[in-house]
Amino acid sequence: MPKPTPLPRVCIDRVLPKDAMKYQFTRRLGRPGILHAVAPIGKTWINGSTLRVRFLGGTAAERTIVKEQAGWWTQHANLKFDFNNAPDAEIRISFDKNDGAWSYVGTDAKGISQGEATMNLGFLDGGTVAHEFGHAIGLAHEHQNPDGGIQWNEPVVISSLAGSPNFWTPEQTRHNVLSKYTANQLNGTKFDPDSIMLYFFPASWTLNGIATEQNEVLSETDKLFIKSARMYPPNGPIESKLLELKPGGSPLGADIGKPGEEDVFTFKVSTGGSYLVETQGATDTVMKLFGPNSPTNLIAEDDDSGAGSNARIRASLIPGQYFVQVRHWDPKKTGKYAVGVRKG
Ligand SMILES: [Zn+2]
Repeated sequence: MPKPTPLPRVCIDRVLPKDAMKYQFTRRLGRPGILHAVAPIGKTWINGSTLRVRFLGGTAAERTIVKEQAGWWTQHANLKFDFNNAPDAEIRISFDKNDGAWSYVGTDAKGISQGEATMNLGFLDGGTVAHEFGHAIGLAHEHQNPDGGIQWNEPVVISSLAGSPNFWTPEQTRHNVLSKYTANQLNGTKFDPDSIMLYFFPASWTLNGIATEQNEVLSETDKLFIKSARMYPPNGPIESKLLELKPGGSPLGADIGKPGEEDVFTFKVSTGGSYLVETQGATDTVMKLFGPNSPTNLIAEDDDSGAGSNARIRASLIPGQYFVQVRHWDPKKTGKYAVGVRKG
């Protein structure tokens, strides 16, 4: 039997309203040797999280594939998936055959109302599920890397996507395909033409593109990147060792003792209201605030709103437990700081 022609891949980082995001005709494109694993900054879950998964449909066979390929990531990332079908699961997967394959990226899923899917698997061929779980844990498409070196043949891409089955406007095509993340919105790593987060497009879509083999498994760089200090390192904090901050108490001294280290603190809010969380000292900190009662529900992220290069987050908080993650802005550097929380 002749080998069937591969079906076009359909995948989007879902960031536009659903109706604006129907169908993206994509095949993988690569130029060997110049592509990075990339993650938009601020969308990663807290290191060490257990992310719960709820199936909105799917056959037993489909669910088995999902569990298997999600596990490709957790073999390397300091994350766990719990397929417990919790109503408020962080990741909710539908299997709508008419809606392609897509996922929200990382903590963006927290902004989606509970009845709605955060990922759709309209097909599950090859490494599609692993690719979508890459998005779900915070990875972006390789082709949107500003250092990717892709020179789009914009008129060809725009006219290709203006037809069936996409019917995209030039604006939609610019957003979904041509727009690149700016360098300071991304965490990037080594060049990786083998990444599962890389798609082919027809070579005619680029001025310099060379089609490569489809990547159906995690590349070595995917594995290294996902467990790197910027993503989910194995030596990251675990909840049982969380340091507790007392609202209104003196700031707690802390130390980014190793390059790439991240510290996690927790505090309890018993009276709702406006709270200020900030670091002090000479270290250029970056801080994320998660909660309530969830180490994965990102409330805010800040780099330099405090004194000097310190991070400061002011947020209106309801009673509950909150988590504060602090890292050095520069993953190669270390430094001491203090962190505190108070009403204000
Ligand atoms: Zn994708």
